[in-house]
Amino acid sequence: MSKFDYGDLANKYQRESNYSDDYFTMQEGANKMRIMSGSEPISEHFKKGVCIGQDKGCTYHNEKESASLKFLTWIIDRKDNTLKQYKMPYTIVKQIAALQLDPEYAFEEVPMPYDVTINAKNAGKMEVEYTLTAARSNSPIEANLLEEFTKKTDVREIVNKMKINSAKKQGIEYSSGKSDYDQSIPDSLPVIKELTDAEQHLEDIPF
Ligand SMILES: [Zn+2]
Repeated sequence: MSKFDYGDLANKYQRESNYSDDYFTMQEGANKMRIMSGSEPISEHFKKGVCIGQDKGCTYHNEKESASLKFLTWIIDRKDNTLKQYKMPYTIVKQIAALQLDPEYAFEEVPMPYDVTINAKNAGKMEVEYTLTAARSNSPIEANLLEEFTKKTDVREIVNKMKINSAKKQGIEYSSGKSDYDQSIPDSLPVIKELTDAEQHLEDIPF
């Protein structure tokens, strides 16, 4: 007889097979999470790649197909309490925007002060529907996760890198400059690093 650790095998296999370990996948039903960062728009052409913008000469663009717009966001997946990147659909962005304006749930900074739950109906299908609800009260984020989050790459930088790689694949020279987000929407969701800076500045103000 010899020892065999199936737990070890399972863990190893899961790690190796799950390429998208770092990505959040929506499950049918309740998906509880904490929004950790602001969101950076990213357009993808189905089965082709990341859109670098028609104005920048994206060769994936054509009349028949449009690119699908998502918003890359860092979250804590409460299912396993780990930090993941989530390509958030616009319908959820709209529902978070509504929370931000609701006096009962208003918040200005990220990470958000409370968890949210996204209820998915027909997850993974075309006709998927999302309903977002907020936790009843604010709760602190685990110190270890906050610490881990400070080491994560900013969503803008991630999307920028994706665009540069996509351009390279298309044989196009791409100059990034500002993100789409900067150009279209005011910066109302500072990243945590900026938040910490702001807090430090607050102490400098003599009153
Ligand atoms: Zn394109």
